[in-house]
Amino acid sequence: MPEPAWPAAPDGLCALPATLEVEVAILGAGIHGAALARELTLRGISCALVDKGEVGGGTSQWSSQLLHGGIRYMLTGDIRQMREGLVERATWARLAPHRCRWEAFWMPHRYWAEGLAHRVGIGLYDHWGAERPGWPEALKRGHVLDQVFAADPRSTGGPFRGATAYADLMTWDRGLTKDLAASSEAALLEFHSPESFEIAEEGLRSARLRDRRDGTLRQLRARRWVFALGPWTDGALARWFGDTRKRLRLSSGIHLWFDPVPGCERPWAIRRPKGRILFVIPRDGMLQVGTTEREVADGWVPIVPAEREELFEALVSNLPAIPWRRLPVRAEELGVRPLVAADGATSHLSREAILEKHARFGNLTLVLGGKLTTARALMDQLATDLTGFRCQASRTEPLRLWDGHLPQIR
Ligand SMILES: Cc1cc2nc3c(=O)[nH]c(=O)nc-3n(C[C@H](O)[C@H](O)[C@H](O)COP(=O)(O)OP(=O)(O)OC[C@H]3O[C@@H](n4cnc5c(N)ncnc54)[C@H](O)[C@@H]3O)c2cc1C
Repeated sequence: MPEPAWPAAPDGLCALPATLEVEVAILGAGIHGAALARELTLRGISCALVDKGEVGGGTSQWSSQLLHGGIRYMLTGDIRQMREGLVERATWARLAPHRCRWEAFWMPHRYWAEGLAHRVGIGLYDHWGAERPGWPEALKRGHVLDQVFAADPRSTGGPFRGATAYADLMTWDRGLTKDLAASSEAALLEFHSPESFEIAEEGLRSARLRDRRDGTLRQLRARRWVFALGPWTDGALARWFGDTRKRLRLSSGIHLWFDPVPGCERPWAIRRPKGRILFVIPRDGMLQVGTTEREVADGWVPIVPAEREELFEALVSNLPAIPWRRLPVRAEELGVRPLVAADGATSHLSREAILEKHARFGNLTLVLGGKLTTARALMDQLATDLTGFRCQASRTEPLRLWDGHLPQIR
């Protein structure tokens, strides 16, 4: 299997020595790899965090940027996963208040009975998610007053008669991932590409890494290995070890960014067919719209016109008062969800994650699937499995800022 194309590495040098030895080597510095590095540091275990690109440069910078229970699970009936997400949402709000912002999302309804169903579902969602550290009292939940709803340009001329507001937490995904890495003492090997592995009886022993910036070779030895390679996992295992078992299904999702539309103050979450949600979210001085689902073959794929068109059609039919097709698209981005392989459409696959012990290498664990929201909890569990230590501080120790600055505007 050929090596996928990767964004060019910047100029720069790495000060790390030619040979490194750690207890745990983590390949992949997305939200899972970075969260695991923090967990191991909290337990006093040495680790290295290796990525072919930069920390948070993969799927973890192209999400919808919500730390949420997932209101759509209310529709698909995946209540256990939703409640786990709601607990984790509160944990993030405590650990990283600087990367979190509470919002009152409006879910609009087309007719009275739908409004009633939304109120019941949202009532439960907000009841199970009652722990909301730092919730601003000025944000109103529940029934949106008719005159407030009418003042939003999205309510004009469309199918909606009113809305119910629920609470959720917005984040800055790339910044959050970088903060997690900065909250660890991991040896950080960004822009390092694993080229080959030394294999011993007990499993993997070392990896030869090439620094993509200046071509320097480094050897990384470790007792235990974790691959958290997101949607690139299957491809990497096939290339490195000839392991061609398909563990993941990949599903792309896009976001479009428009200039802000006056009067669109609150984020909207509009129910669409097949349990999908159309988000229209004012953030960082722009309007973010997403997202879609398309099964794809690789972690790097371009946006196809049909994906863009799907979003425009959903916008025009649901929110016709805004001239979407005449508004310039200021930015567009595509992320690829790593979904745990199963039959059926990717839109119906669970966003759950699996920790898989590799059958051939006893000291290698694979992180498959998952979400931003549950990454800390999952990596807490993995670090406990790897070290035998539980760590209460995982839920309480605030994250450090990676750059000393406040959240980035995107
Ligand atoms: C459109 C979309 C919307 C989403 N919205 C949400 C949301 O609102 N809330 C939520 O909780 N979740 C959301 N998700 C899910 C979430 O973004 C992902 O599940 C999560 O970011 C995956 O993180 P990861 O660490 O597993 O993978 P990644 O972030 O992809 O990290 C994998 C890392 O591995 C590195 N890598 C790959 N190959 C190699 C190699 N050969 N050598 C070295 N390094 C390598 C990559 O550079 C990358 O940095 C969304 C996902 C998508 C696509």
